[in-house]
Amino acid sequence: MQKNGLQKVLTKFSTLLKERRDEQKKIQVDKDALLPELLSANFNRLWMLSLIGSLIAFSYGLKFFLTPSEGIAAADFWRRGILLTHLALLICMLLLFLVTSIYKKRDPMPSAGVQSFLQYTAIAALLASGLALTIIDQLITSNITPFLITTLLVSLLFRIRPIIITPIFVVVYLAFHLTLGIYQNDSSTILSNQLNGLTVTIMSIVLAFTMWQNSTRNILQTRYIEQQKAELEEKNSRLEQLVSYDSLTGLFNRREFDRILEHELNRINRIEQPLTLILLDLDHFKAFNDLYGHVKGDDCLKEVSAAVLSLVRRTGDAAVRYGGEEFAVILPQSSPEYAETLAERIRTAILDLEIPHPGNPAAPVVSISSGVLTILPPSHLTPLQTLEKVDALLYRAKHEGRNRWISALEWSEAVSYGVFQQFTWNPAWISGVSSIDQQHRQLLSMANELIKCLQALDNSSACRDLFADILDTFKQHCDDEERILAGLHYADLAPHAVLHKGLIEHGTSILRNWSPDYHAKKFSIVYYLILDLVVEHMEHADRAYFPLTRSWVSTV
Ligand code: GH3
Ligand code: MG
Ligand code: MG
Repeated sequence: MQKNGLQKVLTKFSTLLKERRDEQKKIQVDKDALLPELLSANFNRLWMLSLIGSLIAFSYGLKFFLTPSEGIAAADFWRRGILLTHLALLICMLLLFLVTSIYKKRDPMPSAGVQSFLQYTAIAALLASGLALTIIDQLITSNITPFLITTLLVSLLFRIRPIIITPIFVVVYLAFHLTLGIYQNDSSTILSNQLNGLTVTIMSIVLAFTMWQNSTRNILQTRYIEQQKAELEEKNSRLEQLVSYDSLTGLFNRREFDRILEHELNRINRIEQPLTLILLDLDHFKAFNDLYGHVKGDDCLKEVSAAVLSLVRRTGDAAVRYGGEEFAVILPQSSPEYAETLAERIRTAILDLEIPHPGNPAAPVVSISSGVLTILPPSHLTPLQTLEKVDALLYRAKHEGRNRWISALEWSEAVSYGVFQQFTWNPAWISGVSSIDQQHRQLLSMANELIKCLQALDNSSACRDLFADILDTFKQHCDDEERILAGLHYADLAPHAVLHKGLIEHGTSILRNWSPDYHAKKFSIVYYLILDLVVEHMEHADRAYFPLTRSWVSTV
């Protein structure tokens, strides 16, 4: 029993030891992986080291060069020795400075081999000069300061594996130990210096080791923190995904919908662009579930949402799973036509999925009904009011037979803010050519009449006729204007004619799509009149040729 207990303890102990060994091995592997980084750090310090080294070697050398000889043979020999050593160090440091300066500007850094070569060259130059200066110094003085400084400097400046730097220090110390007596005769000085040198060497080894440990630990810690940060960021983005998206369909969820709608409603007055909300609901979906079961029902919801998403692609547009089998689309900065076109595209895309739905009287396949509400700025609708309005439209679509959309324009505030203002003739629009000016005036007064008609809210066919008249008059005007400008050799006639063509096409498409439910389109008609015909065309494009026509008129 007792033996068993002892065995357990031993097993536990050996497991612990093994774990620790594995841990150490892992740390070693991690540290080995840091070698290139540490080598680069050493290399980066070489430039500064070689610059300072060059300056020191130069100034010390100069000092010795300028100091007059005392005529004592030993002192002269000492001075020459010191001078030559500094000269050698200076050449070495200058070369190093040159090479590192060249590499400094380059990207990428030199290879590990080159970095390593330059690093050991610098170490060799420092240690050799420190040793040489100390040996020569013994002629005159008993101190070993150069050896001390260079050894400590190397241990401070370079992060090199202890297993490599230790033998280097040992070899340098042995050289120091053996050569100290060349110019030093006093045996007690030699002994004392040898001991001091040994102390410095041990200190340098310990220092190099500590610096190495700290550097590797710092780098590992930084990497660990970076790794943790990356993991945290990934977790955050996954969390965001969970918070903002619906797990079944991948569309935005209700929570995100509330946020986006509120944001867009707040923005509408600032950006002065219409905002559309489409609310879509699958027709008789309960019957679908009852027939096929909820799993098939879920598959159907996924297919429908993928189809919706594939059509809602503009930046800023959002497709949302609003609730069970209800979806929503938010379209900031969209014209009423765009919203209606999209609602129709979504409706047909769902039919094109051809998911059989026998319980749907509206179609043999799965279909949707939607409410499309376009809000014109200025507006102070709250999200709740907006939802109530679009829900009422959806209800109407359901009520009127499903598999359809009903759209409406919310512009009560826009009306009171004077979207329907009348145009007034601007003398700056006088081209000088009476026929053109007459047509311009005529178009303007027709536009004013149409605006009045649109404002009256209910006489769609009268407004349509007026619009058709405007378009005919405009076509005639374009022909006349182009003819006159061609006669005057107007340089920009071709692009001007392209503008005419575009305006006529746009106007024709408005006329073609004129529907009984034309209230929804009023804004775009006014928009076409005000912005396209008057502001863009008369105010900018036409005025470009006025100098030509005016000067022509003044000469005839
Ligand atoms: P209507 O055309 O008037 O919209 O009829 P409807 O049957 O679609 O509407 P109703 O609101 O009566 O029923 C909605 C059904 O949608 C109820 C439920 O069976 C189904 N539903 C809601 N959420 C989910 C869901 O997440 N998965 C599945 N499979 N079915 C759902
Ligand atoms: Mg519903
Ligand atoms: Mg439904």
